[in-house]
Amino acid sequence: MTDHDPFPTRGEPADTLFARLTELTSDDVRADGRAFAFAYDAGPEVEEIARRAFAACMGGNGLDPTAYPSARRLENEVVAATIAHLRGDGDVVGTATAGGTESVLLAVKTARDHARRTRPEITAPQMLLPETAHASFHKAGWYFGVEVVPTAVDPDTMRADVADVAAKITPSTILIVGSAPSYAHGVVDPIPEMAALAQRHGALMHVDACIGGWVLPFQRELGVDVPDFDLTVPGVTSLSVDLHKYAFAPKGVSVLLQRRRELRDDQYYACASWSGYTIVNSTTLGSKSLAALGAAWAVLRHLGRDGYRELVRRTWEATGEVVRCVDEMRELRVVGRPAMGLIAIAARGDGDVFELADRLSARGWLVQPTYRFGASPAHVHLTMDPGNAARVDELLADLAECARDLPGYEASEPAPELVQMLEAVATGQGPIPPAQLMGQMGIADGRLPGAQAPIHRLVNELAPPAREALLSLFIGELFS
Ligand SMILES: *Cc1c(COP(=O)(O)O)cnc(C)c1O
Repeated sequence: MTDHDPFPTRGEPADTLFARLTELTSDDVRADGRAFAFAYDAGPEVEEIARRAFAACMGGNGLDPTAYPSARRLENEVVAATIAHLRGDGDVVGTATAGGTESVLLAVKTARDHARRTRPEITAPQMLLPETAHASFHKAGWYFGVEVVPTAVDPDTMRADVADVAAKITPSTILIVGSAPSYAHGVVDPIPEMAALAQRHGALMHVDACIGGWVLPFQRELGVDVPDFDLTVPGVTSLSVDLHKYAFAPKGVSVLLQRRRELRDDQYYACASWSGYTIVNSTTLGSKSLAALGAAWAVLRHLGRDGYRELVRRTWEATGEVVRCVDEMRELRVVGRPAMGLIAIAARGDGDVFELADRLSARGWLVQPTYRFGASPAHVHLTMDPGNAARVDELLADLAECARDLPGYEASEPAPELVQMLEAVATGQGPIPPAQLMGQMGIADGRLPGAQAPIHRLVNELAPPAREALLSLFIGELFS
């Protein structure tokens, strides 16, 4: 409910509006070193560069790069930098997209359309997806009619199990996906082995380097042992890397690289079958802003390779401190061995990580409570950035205190009837209206209660389809 007219008859002065915007955004996640999710903080100077470039490029429309030559110039420069960074050869081409999800959607669309053209006998295409791969591949499969065939991961390393990938290949496999690294645990899949399988069976191979593609090459330069994952690996046909994560651009920009131009043709969409202007779109959007792309261009050049390497060094060192510290704790453990600053912290024994997340939150830290799935236990996730690195000692002190009595902590078990009811409600068989259900869970006016652990414990008990249905109900409530 708004306490004022959402569309005023008389226009309001700028001062009023900006004061109101400050107020509206005051509860948002801040890049202040205390948020271990969402925000990628390279400091105020980089933010200022991004802000100015964003404003400078705000007027453009990437719909038509002949009408807006800056669209072409900015994209070609940013893509060229990305190709060089990921060691692509002269055949590699790329596209700037609106984010990781769009890069992934387009990689899957490319695979589908490539298969339609070159392997027309396939009527029900499949992609092989390790259970640790990002949710956006499931979304892409759903959108584009490509069946997701899940593959296992090693429960100790959390890396894709190559033998399982090999076992699940069929004549309808059009795409194999590997992560470099996976979001949850920060581990790099065995990309060379997976790409070799793809090549042998005539499938495409996408490397999801959305979160790691910008970071890992710098870690290699710093002497860190980085598994092979980039375009030098034979059989890799596309790779995605988000600039709005560790390249520190504002949200709205990622790059999708394709091994050769012919593959990118399958990514494009053209239409002349209507009475308006003919279109050819390189991405899913039509009209599209150049603001984030322009900001990425500026931040890339402002930081330069040296600037990024230094930020990566600090983040990697802090990551090592967190991992070493947690390894020594008797209450907590790190899941897998992260290859970069993405850390999954699970409880040992019967400790409750959702309680841990609440306690950290009460001390001003933002971590991501994450539900169990497949081989992955319930955990709290930390995405480390340079801002977090500066506060790592504080974090570790609080982590130790918050975890101290976790093993003996008596978390209230979600009542089995409630779990059952939620499963039923979520699958459309329940009698309770959404608002009432949210109320029962302590969610009012789109806000989660301060103590979220009971909700998380409950959702953690639900099967994934029920979690999905519940989330859809929840977001529907937020926007009603
Ligand atoms: C963030 C991420 C994505 C999706 O990116 P968005 O920019 O959030 O759409 C895909 N894969 C991985 C590994 C990611 O970390």
